[in-house]
Amino acid sequence: MDISVIVPLYNEEESLPHLVSWIERVMRENGFTYEIIMVDDGSNDKSWQVIEELSSSNRNIRGVKFRRNYGKSAALNEGFVHSVADVVITMDADLQDSPDEIPELYRMIKKEGYDLVSGWKKKRYDSKLAKNIPSKLYNATTRKLSGIKLHDFNCGLKAYRKDVVKSIEVYGEMHRYIPIIAKWAGFNKIGEKVVQHRKREFGTTKFGMNRFVNGYLDLMSIMFVSKFGKKPMHFFGLLGSLMFLVGIVSAIVLGAQKLIAVANGEMMRLVTDSPYFYLSLCTMIIGCQLFLTGFIAELIGRNSPTRNVYLIEKELNFDN
Ligand code: UDP
Ligand code: MG
Repeated sequence: MDISVIVPLYNEEESLPHLVSWIERVMRENGFTYEIIMVDDGSNDKSWQVIEELSSSNRNIRGVKFRRNYGKSAALNEGFVHSVADVVITMDADLQDSPDEIPELYRMIKKEGYDLVSGWKKKRYDSKLAKNIPSKLYNATTRKLSGIKLHDFNCGLKAYRKDVVKSIEVYGEMHRYIPIIAKWAGFNKIGEKVVQHRKREFGTTKFGMNRFVNGYLDLMSIMFVSKFGKKPMHFFGLLGSLMFLVGIVSAIVLGAQKLIAVANGEMMRLVTDSPYFYLSLCTMIIGCQLFLTGFIAELIGRNSPTRNVYLIEKELNFDN
């Protein structure tokens, strides 16, 4: 099979029939064999009935329905698990992404050898203040931190080589960072294609302003996990040692001052009257805590089930 189209959806009943007939037309015109995997993320409108109706006239339409709303990442991940085609394309259900982009995305994966091609909504049709400006900022930060040269990390329209979707796991709200997750799994050829973006015709957006706050927090954790996930002591241990060192050196200085003063027979205030005493005490305690956090993180890492899962690209002479 050539293409799996994965569509995560939450309350998109009006858009679905248009979307499906559009995808069907593109596939027919290009002679692709395909499946459309509709992942209903716990909709409480008629989306699932619509999917059932659509699938009765087209066997290429498959559906998964969650019992409740788990979020776009969970929906995408479920689609990845079920997909079988060589090239996997994800697309929003709200008709903001155009299925006309499919043939070119497919070609870039198949012919140009990309692992992942991300859409770039160069001209966006969303509200300026609420989305466009914060998203520029957010993309610039993500680009800087991850070293991946993409303009639009969160574009719903993306294409993947099958290997990629079978090797990664998307959870929480990490769908914004799939290119980082893919890169981390060893898929380096990440490309970009300018795609058409359209106004939302039906329904409303499912993400409010809090997407940016949560987006930044998620970026922090994904950067941390990708850098130190397997060696947390390198982070906590270093920070903890540094703090402890600063604390103990300043404590020694305080003590030495006092001893010298006493030896010279001078009057000097009590060590505990100096604010530096409390600062160095605090620094030493926090340093210890960071260090111990590092040990605990190492213990947790050692017991995690993914401890020794390495992604293997090729093997030689092991076919017994
Ligand atoms: N979506 C989903 N689960 C959610 C929220 C959204 O599956 O909890 C789907 C939604 O139906 C749409 C896609 O994710 O197909 C993108 O959502 P939306 O259009 O609301 O985001 P925006 O375009 O405003 O960024
Ligand atoms: Mg949308």
